[in-house]
Amino acid sequence: MSMPASPGRVPTAQPVVVRDTMAAMRTTGRRLLAWLLIVATAPLTGLTAVPASVSAAPACSIASTLRQGSSSAEVSCLEGRLLALGYTLVGPDTTFGASTTLAVKAYQHDHALVSDGIVGPITRAALGLVPPLPTPPPLVGAVPAKVIETRVIGTSVQGRDITAYRMGTPGGRVVLIIGVIHGDETKGGQITKLLRTMPTPKGIDLWLIDTINPDGMAAFQRQNAHAVDLNRNFSEGWSYIPKSTENRQYSGEAPADQPETVATEQFIRDIRPKVVIWYHQDANTITLNGTNKNIPKTYAGYVGLVPGNVPCSTRCTGTASTFANRTVSGATSFIVELPSSSKVTTDMIRRHAAAVLAVVTL
Ligand SMILES: [Zn+2]
Repeated sequence: MSMPASPGRVPTAQPVVVRDTMAAMRTTGRRLLAWLLIVATAPLTGLTAVPASVSAAPACSIASTLRQGSSSAEVSCLEGRLLALGYTLVGPDTTFGASTTLAVKAYQHDHALVSDGIVGPITRAALGLVPPLPTPPPLVGAVPAKVIETRVIGTSVQGRDITAYRMGTPGGRVVLIIGVIHGDETKGGQITKLLRTMPTPKGIDLWLIDTINPDGMAAFQRQNAHAVDLNRNFSEGWSYIPKSTENRQYSGEAPADQPETVATEQFIRDIRPKVVIWYHQDANTITLNGTNKNIPKTYAGYVGLVPGNVPCSTRCTGTASTFANRTVSGATSFIVELPSSSKVTTDMIRRHAAAVLAVVTL
């Protein structure tokens, strides 16, 4: 994830918090020196103490969540980074104290992050302190990129086609990737489109669907044209959720009473996929559902997502992923929640596509 461009800011606007007099003198002196250097070398317009990019490989990294009271070498990594970026705190040392909390909050505030003083996955990514992600192994004996079948599996309420593209090895292990189910969460569709340009791993019968909700995408809304949340409309574990403008999770009046759901359920019954991935936004996590948890776990490692639960503000009933897990014996169907669209980079799309190809053979 690329860090947003930092707005110009005047270093003295940052809180100066210290624990003791010597530390105060050290940090104030360091701050003053940094300030003088900036004033001497930078034009007044566009003045900034923060580098435009922190994308270079970090000298150290943070793998765990850090908060006040944390004590580890990762804390000194964090504190060193914050000091280098012009934030004031006591350190660097291995203790995450009150001054570190304030410095983290100031950094988060400056970068439009939740200003809670806790260094979780999003803040450490913004700071450029994420451990390097492992690179998926190269594909051996892959089938060259080629769509070998294009199948319209059904049509939407408004008559738009729902199209599945087949690649790889017919008769091999069946894999289904769905880019979009909620029409305002569209980035997964870029992953399925990119996958159509990439070789398919040996022995994989790969099906790609960019969207099962083309009407929702056309209107840029979560639900289909009947205001039904398709991911509450599937027939396994369905329960009634009334229409509501607040939760936008109307289940429909009966299980699978929407044409998009009918088409997708029938397609899953027909092809019986062993691996199914559903893309959503923007909870920034991955669910460990299905038979082979190693598949979503490995995927999470390749893309830097932390496995977790997807928040459902009403009930997680009638979901597509559960339908696939219950309908196909031994299936591993799970959800990948990408970040919000402004944070999904081209590099991230590439990384997710590579992760798909790396895990479907596990
Ligand atoms: Zn969603």
